[in-house]
Amino acid sequence: MTTSFPVLEESDVRSSLADDIAVCEQCRLCVDLCDVFPSVFDALARVPNADAHLLTPHQQNVVSDYCFHCGACTQRCPHRGPSSEHEIDLPTSFIHLMHVRRRNGYFSVRQRMTNWVLSTPDLIGPCVVRCSSLINWLMQKPNTLRRRCVTAMTGISPSARIPYVSGQRFSKWFRRQELPATSDRLQVGLFPTCTIEYFSDEAAQAIVSEITSRGSSCHLATTRCCGAEELRSGRIGAFRKRAGRLVELLEKESSTDPIMVMSPSCRAHLLTNLVPHCEAAQKTRAESVISRLRSPLEVLADLGNSNAGAVSSSDDIAHRQPLLFLPGPHDGHAEREGFEHRVGVGATVQTTDDAGLPLGAWALRHGNEESARRIVQRMAKRLPPTSACPHTVARSGCLSSQALSDETGLNIVDPVLVSQQSPGREQ
Ligand code: SF4
Ligand code: SF4
Repeated sequence: MTTSFPVLEESDVRSSLADDIAVCEQCRLCVDLCDVFPSVFDALARVPNADAHLLTPHQQNVVSDYCFHCGACTQRCPHRGPSSEHEIDLPTSFIHLMHVRRRNGYFSVRQRMTNWVLSTPDLIGPCVVRCSSLINWLMQKPNTLRRRCVTAMTGISPSARIPYVSGQRFSKWFRRQELPATSDRLQVGLFPTCTIEYFSDEAAQAIVSEITSRGSSCHLATTRCCGAEELRSGRIGAFRKRAGRLVELLEKESSTDPIMVMSPSCRAHLLTNLVPHCEAAQKTRAESVISRLRSPLEVLADLGNSNAGAVSSSDDIAHRQPLLFLPGPHDGHAEREGFEHRVGVGATVQTTDDAGLPLGAWALRHGNEESARRIVQRMAKRLPPTSACPHTVARSGCLSSQALSDETGLNIVDPVLVSQQSPGREQ
């Protein structure tokens, strides 16, 4: 049974956001992550006693619009995130603010259209795949007349790099593979989300082949969208319905098998938002789902452990040249272990934290180009100088990797594809 979402009053939401901001001790650990924190500090400097409760609605809206919901601040700030003493989460406060702004008529018709286009991939995705040639012709050349026409109609940035739409859905490709139906090893549930389902993704196909070649099996858990943009655009009620349905689809009573979410931004969103937006009666099951969510690299780490002693195909292609791995904010020891399993014995792996922040579809909105660029420039600054960068740079996330590649000139590959590159090949 679905209970209705409690009505949020704008004054309460704004006051709660001010409380969240007031917790900040200005240690500035987060200042180089995104535009949110520099703009908060700038706004606080303009009000008496840096009192967060004196920020105007406009200042709050500007700060909120800079958030790409990457989740990095909840990992880095000592006062934010689920394990902090305040249990506050600034991105969630921004979602509440988007919700009341949407409901109270703050958005223009075009902003509403952009929100609708980006938050309904389950509806638009199948049509886009059917017309993939036309869509790719329309979208693949930034800053052209046709892109500006698309911008006028949808609010999608004319300069944003859009991934190629696939002529075939991932689920269709998957069903055509002759794969073992079951295995006594891991049985991995695939949750491609719309990012993989409708866009070309060599890495997703490679990981399926890798899993099955190691004697485990895969099945499609669901092809639905994770709902990240729905929530980011403030459609909390719609996302709550989706969260309930996703739990039904992803949870099997007795299963402890992993559910692999291939996109890092979708996984970060689910880890943060699925449980809080489920009905009380579903929370235990939602927590069970969350405990089974894995990134592709975590699945590779699990496979490495379950195949202890076995030699994987990738071990044969050990890299002798150093590799640079850029983990995302939610990537931990398991991802690093999975990457090392992937590249094999003998590889030298350097890592650079906080250069793997996902951007998500928020970066595609017209008006967000400059803040997305600044996030990417900050990531680029954390990398070693280009002349000292290893040939192979690995990070997940197609949108942000493409943007980082454009910024630095480095050819960045998905970590699950790394061992398929020739070790000495120019990237
Ligand atoms: S890390 Fe937390 S406490 Fe430190 S400046 Fe950022 S928001 Fe404030
Ligand atoms: S979630 Fe990411 S973009 Fe949003 S405030 Fe935190 S670090 Fe910045």
